[in-house]
Amino acid sequence: MVLPTSNPTKSYWVEAAESSLRDFRSSDDLPKETDVVIVGSGYAGASTAYWIHKYTEKAAQQPQIVLLEARDICGAATGRNGGQLRPHAYSRYPPWSERFGSQGAMELIRHEMAHLPAFKELADEEGITEEICLRFGETFDAAMTEEAWTRLEGAYQAMRKDHGDDNDVVRTCRTIEDASHAEEFTQMKGALAAVVHPTGQVWPYKFVHALLRIVLETGNLNLQAHTPAMNVSERDADGWITVGTDRGNIRAKAVVHTTNRFTSHLLPEFSNLIIPDKATLAAIKAPAGFVKHTGAQHWDSSVNNYHLQLPPPYNTIILGGARQFLVHRPEDCFLNDEEDKQVAGVADFFKSWPASDVVSWPGLGPAELGKNVDEGGCWTGVDSSSADSFPFVGPVPNRDGNFIAAGFSGHGMPRILLSAAHITPLILESLGVEFSQPVLVAPFPPLPKPFHATFERIEKLQSTSITAKGASYRESCAESAKKPFCNDERIRKSLGLV
Ligand SMILES: Cc1cc2nc3c(=O)[nH]c(=O)nc-3n(C[C@H](O)[C@H](O)[C@H](O)COP(=O)(O)OP(=O)(O)OC[C@H]3O[C@@H](n4cnc5c(N)ncnc54)[C@H](O)[C@@H]3O)c2cc1C
Repeated sequence: MVLPTSNPTKSYWVEAAESSLRDFRSSDDLPKETDVVIVGSGYAGASTAYWIHKYTEKAAQQPQIVLLEARDICGAATGRNGGQLRPHAYSRYPPWSERFGSQGAMELIRHEMAHLPAFKELADEEGITEEICLRFGETFDAAMTEEAWTRLEGAYQAMRKDHGDDNDVVRTCRTIEDASHAEEFTQMKGALAAVVHPTGQVWPYKFVHALLRIVLETGNLNLQAHTPAMNVSERDADGWITVGTDRGNIRAKAVVHTTNRFTSHLLPEFSNLIIPDKATLAAIKAPAGFVKHTGAQHWDSSVNNYHLQLPPPYNTIILGGARQFLVHRPEDCFLNDEEDKQVAGVADFFKSWPASDVVSWPGLGPAELGKNVDEGGCWTGVDSSSADSFPFVGPVPNRDGNFIAAGFSGHGMPRILLSAAHITPLILESLGVEFSQPVLVAPFPPLPKPFHATFERIEKLQSTSITAKGASYRESCAESAKKPFCNDERIRKSLGLV
């Protein structure tokens, strides 16, 4: 059984949002029957509900939706993440072009980049830009070592070489190659150089709650917090699929699985395909407008930090990564589902970051967290790690009436909105209802091929060895853990070694 823990650490995003939808139930009893059951109220589930609304708002009749959530609404990865709406504009080019060719890699990048205008247009249309703290600007990958610069610059140059400087994506990226400009732009002490490209940032939990509020207002959504789906039947002779919960059964014509790491609870064929990866973040108090650009620091290919700053009145810096610390604690990360546990010592590491890493940070001592450690100051979050690094999106093979959008592998913000837009017409076609493509979706690229949840892909990945993946992860952590940048005094102090 793979269900979310019921008592997760508290995340700043959830605690500071104080949303009235947090534990929302539309009705005391579950409806007995509906058109669509969506399982999971994170970004993927909420976007699917939103797109069903948008695709059918001009139709004579709209489908009825029940959305079941095991925890509080949006209480898992989307309510616990880094808030970075940050496309892989260039950094994954080498592995992607090796696997899918230069055009395939560009297709993947364009799909991610398209999330920037998609978010902008959606938020403008719904009037939620301020509410969800949506901002756009430039982000940086700062090279903290020569090793990191070789990798980052190599990725950028490989993309340039294949696509030329006139390419729309290449044109948006640039490098800062001298250390003093890199330090000035990134505000990161000791940055040697940087690659810069467009990005966005958002309050993901507020975004999801805003989408759900919009759909609730139509009267076509029944939202149910604290109601895990325990099982899903095959379609019966009358066309119904039964979703079982501890509060009763619901019959539906279609079921959408937006359950992220927990997908295999209802779909066991995903047991080896979508596995857990736990990370940790902190909220740090900062002067208003202190951080000029969101960004990431890189030491080697697995050691990084990433951060953004929220606009006023929040001003908080959301800091993730902590990989200099976590490479010493591999058992607390990959294959770990313990979202109810903090990583011991990591809060001290996070508090030491501003004085140690940020140029002109006021003060030399540990920074103050945005809330007490266990009240939203520092938290953990379990995300999915997909066996081949790509999400599974589309109809579920051999399960008539079931659809999936899950497995976004720690990088869902610039992938999920348009993935949900891809499955929505498929769901509506299966229901046989009238629908039309909303103007919002029309200009955006189709789902990249590696995302499709085909029978062949799923079958091939059944042989994935989780043991081997775990061993390779531990090996890579052990390699990094020997390097000087993972062993300075403050890290050793946070680890309790001095
Ligand atoms: C610590 C952390 C930091 C991250 N930082 C970033 C970032 O900065 N940028 C970025 O792009 N991505 C980031 N990610 C990844 C991103 O958060 C995810 O890709 C995205 O939120 C996934 O959305 P989702 O809707 O698929 O999953 P979730 O938000 O996890 O939603 C799935 C929901 O399904 C519910 N559920 C599961 N099983 C059942 C069931 N049987 N019945 C009912 N409900 C069920 C869960 O409780 C959960 O609420 C991060 C992830 C983590 C954990």
